Amino acid sequence: MYELGSLVEMKKPHACLIKQTGKKANCWLIKRLGADIKLHCQNCQHELMMSRYDFERRLKKILD
Ligand SMILES: [Zn+2]
Repeated sequence: MYELGSLVEMKKPHACLIKQTGKKANCWLIKRLGADIKLHCQNCQHELMMSRYDFERRLKKILD
């Protein structure tokens, strides 16, 4: 189960690229957990909010 502070991978990676590898980043930190979820991209520091419903649908795996 995920919780506040968990690192997760989404089905769709973020649009930003990891400098060292040239691959799309896909590592998000859960910064807020409620009816809406706030995710923080660990590569570019971008933050986004989505409903818990969307999050559950888009979640690929929990990295912990
Ligand atoms: Zn990013």
